[in-house]
Amino acid sequence: MSERCKQRVLGGGMRPRQCSRNATRDGWCAQHHPDAEKARREQTSQRAAAHHDAIRIKMEAERKRSLRAMHHTDLVHLLGRILNSSYDVPQHEIRTAYERGRELLP
Ligand SMILES: [Zn+2]
Repeated sequence: MSERCKQRVLGGGMRPRQCSRNATRDGWCAQHHPDAEKARREQTSQRAAAHHDAIRIKMEAERKRSLRAMHHTDLVHLLGRILNSSYDVPQHEIRTAYERGRELLP
């Protein structure tokens, strides 16, 4: 008769019961061995970190896209003002249009 895994697990009942699998190493089954649990925790935290990175990258891309859209609107508006007036557009507005245009360059 082989040894049972020594891990206590929560089943459907009120109290924890002993794991029903056979012990395969150091008195634990393959799933409950501390090395396996540590590896699972590491994998979980790596996945969480990768997920967090993906969200951060996506948010950064969205922020840049919305900034570009805003600058594009400003640029078109300012160029419209410059086109529709002869010489009365203040220099700083022309400079802003120029800078917005530059920011939109890849
Ligand atoms: Zn077990």
